[in-house]
Amino acid sequence: MARLLIRFSCKPLPVAVVAILLAIWWVGCRNEPPRPNLILIVVDTLRSDHLSASGYPLETSPHLEQLSSRGTYFERFYSHSAITRPSVATLFTSRFVSGHGITNQGPAGLSRELPFLPEILDRAGYETRAFVTNPQLHPLLGFDRGFDHYEPLFSQDADPVRLKPADLIKLPASEVFAAARESLQRRHRRPFFYYIHLLDPHGPYQPSGEERAKFTDPAYDGVITGSIADFARHAHFRAHPEDLDHFRALYDAEVSSTDRALGEFVDWLDGAGLLADTHLLFTADHGEEFLEHGATGHSVKLYEESIRVPLLWIGPGVPAGRRVDALAGLVDVLPTLLDVLDLPAPDTPLQGRSLRPTWSAEPARRAWRPALLLEGPAKGGRRAEEPPVVRGIVTLTHKVLARGSAAGRPGWQTLEIFDLRTDPEEQNGRTVTPDLGALSPDDKDLVRLYELEVRRALNHGSPGSVPEIELPEEELERLRSLGYLD
Ligand SMILES: [Zn+2]
Repeated sequence: MARLLIRFSCKPLPVAVVAILLAIWWVGCRNEPPRPNLILIVVDTLRSDHLSASGYPLETSPHLEQLSSRGTYFERFYSHSAITRPSVATLFTSRFVSGHGITNQGPAGLSRELPFLPEILDRAGYETRAFVTNPQLHPLLGFDRGFDHYEPLFSQDADPVRLKPADLIKLPASEVFAAARESLQRRHRRPFFYYIHLLDPHGPYQPSGEERAKFTDPAYDGVITGSIADFARHAHFRAHPEDLDHFRALYDAEVSSTDRALGEFVDWLDGAGLLADTHLLFTADHGEEFLEHGATGHSVKLYEESIRVPLLWIGPGVPAGRRVDALAGLVDVLPTLLDVLDLPAPDTPLQGRSLRPTWSAEPARRAWRPALLLEGPAKGGRRAEEPPVVRGIVTLTHKVLARGSAAGRPGWQTLEIFDLRTDPEEQNGRTVTPDLGALSPDDKDLVRLYELEVRRALNHGSPGSVPEIELPEEELERLRSLGYLD
């Protein structure tokens, strides 16, 4: 009727007709099933293998373990790089570092041209709210785009270009959740998206008395307090292993207090009936090192302790109690959300893929993804003409790490190959030079696979697109036969 009236009459519509049309429109809107809500919890600096939910022998995460029975837990999940800003940029844009250009320090903000999860949800009618403890995600850098409300829970004096340790206030998880809870208590007329970024396991380690007592040795009388200064005591830790143990115990206590706050928050959500039609994601932006590869903290390394993080996904249609060991990473979160929330893909290509096939069937793991790209800024890698990057790939069995990469170029100077089955701590890599020398066919495949993944990323193509790579037909055929090529 509306079309007829508009087509045949240019006169103003009578008030009664307008009212009827509005009523029809309103009823039509009401009949559309509302989209599920989304709560995304990101814990800064949470390495997966220090969670009892991932098999850690100390009980650091009983609540996460309990929660995992309600959703799907990803056991081979990666943050791609070990630094907050590029990692969260990858989470929200489904682009690797070479695709979004965000390094760490410096003035570079997110390009408005990039697809951005909060903005996509905002345009889809979601109420979008963020509670963010890390000044690396300062609104001035564009991380607040698409949020109706972006609450920075860090020093208001924080300069995003020159951040100082004092800018980390480290509001405890319980207080961050309390702020989110207060907001959630309001009646939501639209589906909501809450992004909650916690900071407890990030240094300095300052666990509460109760958690400290649970994980540290009461007889310890050494010099370590968990302060920022402790992170530089590498030589000291080598000389006094008990101090490193204490340092690690303080980290575990921070993980445990985060887990306890998570448990209380989920209990509250359950009590308020807010989880019935909600996707709840629990993940991390990167891990933390305890001298496994010569340092403490986190920076540019791509070893497992620095980039392997948890992902628990609870939500409508997501199997309960399933554990998935397919290769997946933060780059996949946005495409998966578009899939499960039934939202259209943005015009610009995403570099991740929907995780739904990994939980909806028993996929051939290699066929789903033979290799996952790792990519982060190199030391001091600020946005410049050709900033150095660190790159690698992880497969179901191996890791390949490159040295001497530039952001826009696929080349490398040396590669190091680790067999994760026999060397899970990545201590005995085999070094490869570009001449490939007397490399075994299997190692040669890994080198080619690394090159394929880098070229795909630099092409900004979808994971299934044909990469631009010149290889002899027999080598291409071999990669195809191994499931590495479509
Ligand atoms: Zn971080």
